[in-house]
Amino acid sequence: MSIIPKTIDVVVPVFNESGNIEALFAAIHREITGKFKMINLIIIDDGSSDNTSEVVIENINKFPQLNVVFIRFTRNYGKEIAVKCGIDHSESDLCVIMDGDLQHPPKCILEADHAMQKNDANLVYISPVKREKRFYQKMGTSGYRKILNFLSKEKVYLTDFTLMDRKAVAIVQQFNESDFYTRGILSIVGLKTFEISYVPNSRFDGKTKFSFFKLLNLAINGIISVSTRPLRLAIYLGITVSLVSMLFGIFLVIEKIRYGQEIAGFATLGFGLFFFAGVQLLFIGLIGEYVGKTYIQTKNRPLYTIDFIKKLNE
Ligand code: UDP
Ligand code: MG
Repeated sequence: MSIIPKTIDVVVPVFNESGNIEALFAAIHREITGKFKMINLIIIDDGSSDNTSEVVIENINKFPQLNVVFIRFTRNYGKEIAVKCGIDHSESDLCVIMDGDLQHPPKCILEADHAMQKNDANLVYISPVKREKRFYQKMGTSGYRKILNFLSKEKVYLTDFTLMDRKAVAIVQQFNESDFYTRGILSIVGLKTFEISYVPNSRFDGKTKFSFFKLLNLAINGIISVSTRPLRLAIYLGITVSLVSMLFGIFLVIEKIRYGQEIAGFATLGFGLFFFAGVQLLFIGLIGEYVGKTYIQTKNRPLYTIDFIKKLNE
C-alpha cells in the first residue's frame, strides 16, 4: 500500500494505564507507521495516580520512530476534557481519537481514512459491532442512544473512536464549554459524517475507568450538554398533569353532587403526593443542573491545567 499523503495526529487520553502504554506504542508502530506522511502521537495523561507518565517517557525512548507530544494534566479532569486538550494540540491534516487500552485497533484508522476519501466526509465514526459489556451497560446503551437522539436534533454516535479532518478539528477547537462532550459537539455542527464499524478487542490490561455512577453522570452530562429539551419536557409534563388533575377534580365534584359520596382513598392521595413530590424534585434537580452549568461557565475557567508538555523524537 502506498503512503497516504497526509499527516495525522493520534490523540490518546490515558488515566492509570501504565500496563497498556508499551503495547499501545507497539500496536500504533506496527499497524500505521509508514502508512501516513507523518504520524504524531498526542498522549494526554489525565492526572494518573500510578506511574503512567514515567512509562510513557520510557517508551518514547523505546520507539524513536514515533513522534510524540506528551501532555500531563495537574489533576484528573475526565476523558472528555483530555480528548479536548488533544484536539486543541492537533495541527495535522487528520486527527484520530482512540482509547489507550487497545480496544480500538489502530489499523481501522486506515479504513476510516479510505471511507473519508470515498465519501468526502469530514468525520468518520468507527463504531463497535459488538462489545462484551456489563448487563446494565448493554441495557442502558440502546435506551440511552434513543433518548439522546430524541433530545438532540442531530444523531449522536456513541463511539469515541473517531477520525476527523482538519475542518472538523478547527471547528471543535473553537468550542470552550466547561461540560465539553466531543460527540455532542461533533453532532451539532453540521459536518459531513460517515460511519464504519470495527470489532473491539478486550481491554489489554487493567479495568475500565468507568464505574456505574461515572457512566450515569456521563450520560446525564451528555444529554444536558446537547440539549435544553428536557426543560421543555418539564413544561409539557406539568401541563398534562394539571389537565388530568383538573378533570379528576371535576369528576369528584360530579360524584359528590350525584351520589353524595365522600371522597375516599387515602392510598390514592398518599401515592399521588409522593409521586408528584418525586417528579417535582427531579425537575428542580434538572433545572439546577442547567443553572449550575451556567454558573460554572460564567466563571470562564480554563478547561484543563497542564503540568508539563514534552515534545519528543521530532
Ligand atoms: N480515561 C481518561 N480519563 C478518565 C477515565 C478514562 O483519560 O478519567 C481514558 C482511559 O485511560 C482510556 C479511555 O479513557 O484510555 C477509555 O477508558 P476505559 O477503557 O476505561 O472506558 P471503556 O472502554 O470501559 O468505556
Ligand atoms: Mg476501554
